[in-house]
Amino acid sequence: MIIKLDKNIKKEAKNLILQKLQDVGYKSNIVTTKYDNYIIGVGSKQFDIRSIGSLEGIKDIHRVTAAAKLVSKKWKTQDTIIDLGDSVKIGGGNFQIMAGPCSIESEDQIEKTVQHLLENNIKIMRGGVYKPRSSPYAFRGLGIEGLKLFYKHCHANGIKIITEVMMTSQIESMYEYIDIFQVGARNSQNFNLLDALGKQDKPIMLKRGLSGTLDELLASAEYIFSNGNEDIMLCERGIRTYENSYRNTFDINSIPVLKKKSHLPVIIDASHGVGIREFVEPISLAGIIAGGDAVITEVHEIPQIAFSDGAQTLSHLEANKYYQNVRNTVAFREKLIQF
Ligand code: PEP
Ligand code: MN
Repeated sequence: MIIKLDKNIKKEAKNLILQKLQDVGYKSNIVTTKYDNYIIGVGSKQFDIRSIGSLEGIKDIHRVTAAAKLVSKKWKTQDTIIDLGDSVKIGGGNFQIMAGPCSIESEDQIEKTVQHLLENNIKIMRGGVYKPRSSPYAFRGLGIEGLKLFYKHCHANGIKIITEVMMTSQIESMYEYIDIFQVGARNSQNFNLLDALGKQDKPIMLKRGLSGTLDELLASAEYIFSNGNEDIMLCERGIRTYENSYRNTFDINSIPVLKKKSHLPVIIDASHGVGIREFVEPISLAGIIAGGDAVITEVHEIPQIAFSDGAQTLSHLEANKYYQNVRNTVAFREKLIQF
């Protein structure tokens, strides 16, 4: 059960609601975000919710039985819009392209990428400075010094930053340099990290786990929301299956299903989703038709010399055409498809 409270509810009124919930055997969780105050009631007993809904200080009340409640569309029917400032928004009809290398490698690489994004009117740059790598001997990122360089050039050019946070202890030092915290597939169920990100006031892009179900993804998003952060995006980045013709199986089904289950924006990561450069574009376009709210795509001036994920990375030249086709597909969807 989700109870949305009046902003200036009196303490006594709030206590009365908590008492009523306790009387019917419900456990209460208080959630405070920068937008609203909620009480999440968890219990199984059936009772007439009007007996609580009529109490003073309640804006609205909804029975949501799913495990992931706050992220559910059953309660909030309008799409969540992530507002990054400077008119850069994601969700609710606002489509964005996020692009950049898998890893931040050097100042020169950052400058070239920023130039490339400016030429293509792209407002959000991706790039990892903490890299989860299967091998401990692979390049693991430039760390906080790399992030500072990343910030220097993006900030000077009005470009927003999305980058992966791997550990709770990195959050504080990263905070001032980033616009979106990315949670990688391997950390999709790192509940301590999700708790900590729920206490931040910057948006989170949460990736689906390597073999995570959609309900697990939503439950992970619920950790973030229930800790106080409503600004969450879900990312389909492919899952492990028995098929080994490509790196991962991009689960196109997940996009309409997540959009039906949740009000959160859904992001298409075809780069990791298929893992092969020449298929990144068709899979991205399919994701757009399926209803995705943004793409996040790996690009590099010369993918062949990229420090990581070169095989799935578009060259800047290839990306120019890709962005055009992404935009054409979004325009086609807006004009010709009724959702
Ligand atoms: C990445 O975005 O470069 C990355 C490591 O992604 P994932 O967590 O999806 O593997
Ligand atoms: Mn990558």
